[in-house]
Amino acid sequence: MIGIAVNGAAGRMGRTIAAIARDLPDVRIVGGSDRERLDDEAAAAAGFPRIVASADAASVVAEADVVLDFSSPAGLLALLDAPGAPLAGKALVVGTTGLGEAQLERLRAAERTMAVLVAANFSIGVNLLLALAEQAARALPAPAYDVEIVEAHHRRKADAPSGTALALGRAVAAGRNASLESLRRDGRSGQTGERPAGEIGFHALRGGEVVGEHRVLFLGARERLELAHVATDRALFAEGALVAARWIVGKGPGAYGMAEVLGLTAKGEG
Ligand code: NAD
Repeated sequence: MIGIAVNGAAGRMGRTIAAIARDLPDVRIVGGSDRERLDDEAAAAAGFPRIVASADAASVVAEADVVLDFSSPAGLLALLDAPGAPLAGKALVVGTTGLGEAQLERLRAAERTMAVLVAANFSIGVNLLLALAEQAARALPAPAYDVEIVEAHHRRKADAPSGTALALGRAVAAGRNASLESLRRDGRSGQTGERPAGEIGFHALRGGEVVGEHRVLFLGARERLELAHVATDRALFAEGALVAARWIVGKGPGAYGMAEVLGLTAKGEG
């Protein structure tokens, strides 16, 4: 039986993970943490035996084999820096997106002592799409083919472009033996002039209840290739995160990705 704790337990993903884990015989949700403690009734309604404040995460994490983080960049830092270093000896699965250098640096330090898996997207389809995007980018090089990545999400999403869109951009850049940082272009407005060769454009749509849609376009002079993925239920991500949680328990210190969990190879995943 694998004990799982969730940081960001009271959120949409936290609740969905708890709901799915309830029906799994080999997994037990030991508790959660969030920005603030929830009373027992509210925690039970979210599917958790208890939800403590992130600063008190040690009490919940102590019972877990693996911790899933679906909170926010600040929430992830709160977990990593929680008093008592609760993550020591545990495995960590991070689904939170919009991570900056502060989080990435702390994760790199954590990877030296524990197993850490970071994935912007836990669906098998998107992880396959990462591999396909890299393959397509290799076969359809710049400047003959321009790449634009379009994504759509619900109105409450906090970060843009999505972590998945950026992972797709990294996959395309990897297929062209380049780094995304030098090619990234977030949206266009005003007198933009001619499109620079090799640029990778990102466009984010926000609205309604869209779970997550991603489209990678390779635009050539006489043809256009489009690779697309549509998520229709966030349970998809929760299921994938639980697959990752089962997989990572018992792994040695280091950085892991969904490509390894799913037996795919996508260098662009981050
Ligand atoms: P949400 O806003 O519904 O839930 C986030 C939860 O984290 C909330 O309960 C909030 O109180 C808590 N939180 C925020 N800041 C915190 C802090 N400083 N300390 C402690 N807790 C804090 O969001 P969501 O839709 O559940 O998504 C959570 C994260 O997961 C986002 O970054 C989202 O982009 C990402 N996400 C990833 C995947 C994936 O497959 N990797 C899928 C869906 C969502």
